[in-house]
Formats: sequence, structure tokens, C-alpha cells
Amino acid sequence: MNQAYDWLQTRSNDMASELETLCNINSSSDNLDGLLRAADWLTQYFQPLGVPCERIELPTYPVIDDLGNETNSTTGPALRWDMGGAGDRGVDQKNVLLTIHYDTVYGLQDPFQKCTLLEGGRMRGPGVIDAKGGIVVMRYAAIAARKFLDLSPLRLTVVLTPDEEIGSPSTITLWNKIAHEFGSALLFEPSMADGSLVSSRKGTGTFTIVVHGKAAHAGRNFNAGRNAVVHASRMVADLHELNGQRPNVTVNVGRIRGGHAVNVVPDLAVTRVNVRVGSMEDQRWIESQVQRFVETYNVPDQGYTVSVQGSIHAPPKIQDEGTNDLMKRVERSAEKLGESIRWKESGGASDGNKLQGLNLPNVDTLGPDGDGLHSDQEWVSLASLPRKASLVFGILEEMASE
Ligand SMILES: [Zn+2]
Repeated sequence: MNQAYDWLQTRSNDMASELETLCNINSSSDNLDGLLRAADWLTQYFQPLGVPCERIELPTYPVIDDLGNETNSTTGPALRWDMGGAGDRGVDQKNVLLTIHYDTVYGLQDPFQKCTLLEGGRMRGPGVIDAKGGIVVMRYAAIAARKFLDLSPLRLTVVLTPDEEIGSPSTITLWNKIAHEFGSALLFEPSMADGSLVSSRKGTGTFTIVVHGKAAHAGRNFNAGRNAVVHASRMVADLHELNGQRPNVTVNVGRIRGGHAVNVVPDLAVTRVNVRVGSMEDQRWIESQVQRFVETYNVPDQGYTVSVQGSIHAPPKIQDEGTNDLMKRVERSAEKLGESIRWKESGGASDGNKLQGLNLPNVDTLGPDGDGLHSDQEWVSLASLPRKASLVFGILEEMASE
């Protein structure tokens, strides 16, 4: 066992330089070329797992643009490797899913594209903790498991996904298909800024509400117009009032687009609303409220039509019995490293929400330590890479010995 920890420690420099290479490949969720390049790189990178890579093409996902038009976007492939015993794809409580995403939030136009080394063993760069550092941690934990453990009682499946940062609209089809194969899952999102791991998460969803009115000349024909921007504004003011009505529900009207020339009554407004919920009851409540407002404001006889697309795509991640057992395993593994784990609730969602919604218990913050994700100050603690890989190795070791 110490042998594995030692081996992981000796790989520290490799981990840092491989992470730098991976982060320097732009793979923002909407950059298909970059996602494909990253997928090719990752296919090579995971070769030491010693099993073939399955490249899974995912379905397109719908996007509503600011003109209210729906188009379909293509994402990169999911990548899958099956290791250990139980060669076939049977369903077994002992099957463990290891997964994380390889897309990032930094688009091609973003000035933040390359890594820099900082003082104090830190590296700053796009995706260093969210979640490319997690990819490195996961890879080394899996290689160490192959090298130092008898994996025949387990099946370890590694999956990398291309669209988590936009809510996994394509990967959800894969989760729906395979989640039942596994008894537990480990995900490699970063820990919280203070080093805590996440015990439970709010659910989240985004609704896109399209209001159509009627265009007219603002001078000649003003009264014939139906102002979609004003109609949408009334509706979002009402939506905003939902805040505070239930303790764990928030509604953020994040973006409104509408109107062109100032002398034209605008006939279109596209509003995007992000909601967070603490429980399934909250989820049902907010979905019915959004529906209610859409129906209230959809008044074709007055010249306004309102439609909505979207849902709570990630249900709340609640700490159930299966998750509790897994959390205990993480704690025991940390003890072997002379560490202790602190747990925290988070308002953010991850694929852990979706997998738990599909009855797959998971711990989803086994990636590295650091802070500043989704900003140009994102940094990773390089020393945490081998440390987290050791933590995960310990969990797999316990699972393999049962
Ligand atoms: Zn993220």
C-alpha cells in the first residue's frame, strides 16, 4: 500500500507537466475542434490503463439563440475504458464508475488560454482544477490500482465527458443508459476552496422563455405594436418575486435579449432564468411556477405568445444511505494518509446530481485543491495531485479487498 503512495509521489512532476499540456488545449464546451483534439490527446494519455478506449458519439443538443431560433449543436465524444474483473458489462454493486468532464468554460475568444507557474507550488490556468486536474488525479489513481491491486473482484469503468459545463445535455443520454451498471461512482470535481469535500448539492436548471409580440414603427404606427421587451419585463419581475418564498429556492433572471432599432417596437424578447432548488418538492414547485407564469403571460388574443424550453436538468444531490457509506470510505482512506475530511454543502451542481438522480450514489469532489474556477484566477495546488490520487487509491483498495 505504501508502495502505491510512494509511486504516486514520484510521479508528481509528470502530473504537473501533463496537466499543463492538457490545459493548454482549449476545450471549451462550444469549441468542437478543441474537444476533438482533447479527446484524441486523452485517448493516448489513458493508454497505460491497458484496456481499449471506447469512443462514444453523443447526440446533438438543442440551443435557442438570441433570435429565439432553435438549432442543434454537436459536442465531442465521451471516452470509456473498462478495467478489472467482470469482463462483460454486467450489472453489479461492485462496479465502480470513475468520471469527470474534459470541457471547460473558457471560449476561444477568452484571453485566458495558457498555464503559468505561481509561487508556493501553484499553477494557474484554464481548467487546472475544473476539471482537468481531476482528469490527472483520476488517471493516476486508476493506473496505481492496476499496478498495485488485484482488481479481479471489481470492475472499474473510467468515463470522460465533453459537456458538463453546459449541463451535460448530450451526456445525459449516456448516463440514462449506463448508470444502472454501477454500485457507486467517484467524480473528480475540485474540492471546495477551504479543502472540504461536498456532501450535498442543490439542484439546478435553466429555462429559456421566448416572448413574441408585434413589430411596428414607433412613430407612425405605435399602437399597432406589441412590445415583447415590456411584456417580458413584467413577467420576469413576477418571476423574481418567487425568491424568498421557499428557503432553498433561488431564481436568477440572468439574461434578457430583445429589440434592435430604438424606433421600432420590439417583437421579440428571449429571457434566460437559472434556478436552484434544495429538494424534490422545491423542484416540483418551481417547475409548476414557471409553467404558471408562461401560461399567464401567453395571451395570443392580446398579441403576445410566450413559450418556454428547459427544466431542472440536475436534481438536488441529497445525502442518502449509499452516499453516506461512500463518504465513510473516503474518510477511512484519508485516515490512512493521516488526514481528515471535512464536508460541506454546495449550491453548485455537478454530474454527481444527475447520477444520484439515477440512483447511483457518488462522491463528486475527489479532484485537486485550488480555487478561482470559472475565472482567470483559476489555480491548482500541484502537491494535491498525488495526494488526491493516493486518497482515491485507498478507496479502491478497500473496495477491491471486500
Ligand atoms: Zn465548472
